[in-house]
Amino acid sequence: MESREIRLKSGATGLPTAANFETGTVTVAAPGAGEVQVRNRWMSVDPYMRGRMYTERASYIPPFQVGEPLQGHAVGEVVASNDPDFAPGDLVSSMFGWREAFTMSGKALQKLPRLPGVPDQAYLGVLGMPGLTAYAGLLEIGQPKPRDTVFVSGGAGAVGSVVAQIAKVKGCTVVATAGSDAKCDWLRSVGIDHAINYKTGNLLAAVQAAVPGGIDIYFDNVGGEHLEVAIEVARQGARFAECGMISAYNATEPVPGPRNLIMVVGKSLKIQGFIVSNYAHLQPQFMTDMGGWIAAGQIKWEETVEDGIDRAPHAFLGLFSGANTGKMLVRL
Ligand code: NDP
Repeated sequence: MESREIRLKSGATGLPTAANFETGTVTVAAPGAGEVQVRNRWMSVDPYMRGRMYTERASYIPPFQVGEPLQGHAVGEVVASNDPDFAPGDLVSSMFGWREAFTMSGKALQKLPRLPGVPDQAYLGVLGMPGLTAYAGLLEIGQPKPRDTVFVSGGAGAVGSVVAQIAKVKGCTVVATAGSDAKCDWLRSVGIDHAINYKTGNLLAAVQAAVPGGIDIYFDNVGGEHLEVAIEVARQGARFAECGMISAYNATEPVPGPRNLIMVVGKSLKIQGFIVSNYAHLQPQFMTDMGGWIAAGQIKWEETVEDGIDRAPHAFLGLFSGANTGKMLVRL
């Protein structure tokens, strides 16, 4: 079986471009003992992949290798199997995205249930890594209580939109930011109390007008000005879940810290970064809770889909211009 794949052509400084990627074709071997052949149906592009494109800079995961296919979450179907745990037609997730098909040890795969009303690609979004990130960061670090006020940046994205809706499930008031009026309209349509287009007007004034009493929790996907605003409007003892800082991912110079960091002391703020892989133990409870919320109509999701492996770099680059509402996906 032939498979096209996207390889890293060169490491990126500043905003990556299509020139950092190249397409290659390989022949996928028939499965040997204990191996499974998979045809990918969906692959994920995620902001953290940007960090893996710095070939010279350390990140919390090793960099992609020039000339090698990129990696990332994918959902596919088993085509042939020499592992008794997998049969043709099984739905599986893996870290072997950015390619149309592959043969790997069955140990590198996770079998996925086909649930009524849940499309396969939801395992890359609301029921996958972004969903668990939202769940772990908000519940473990944010510790939301009913009537708390939660501020989430990147509110219409894969992680942010789930954070905002879980906060509503927990009885909180939610203020979310997003980069367009259409994204803000969608946030209001799923019950978010205040949606702010951060690209128009003064962000601090808009947040203060929305929640004059301040915030108890900030879930940060963006960093930069958003983080400064959150510190400014934080109530005494507020919790900050530092999930990501996408505004700085393509910076070519060190980014200045929040100018008002001194307020952390007087307001007794608790600011904690986290990586979702440190919360893998929450996976079973996450699946139970999220499955229940989806079935009850309390969590809804959007997705933005590009078609074909050739469009994967375009989909990835779109994350940095806000091309996606909800999860950015590539259908293979
Ligand atoms: P999103 O679906 O939110 O996509 C990225 C979005 O970021 C864009 O749609 C855009 O939305 C916004 N954005 C892009 N550039 C900027 C900018 N300069 N300033 C403000 N907003 C910007 O991605 P994810 O939900 O997958 O990820 C969200 C965040 O969570 C990222 O920072 C990511 O790195 C982080 N993350 C962290 C994990 C962890 O374990 N700590 C795990 C997974 C994700 P808009 O139109 O609103 O600008």
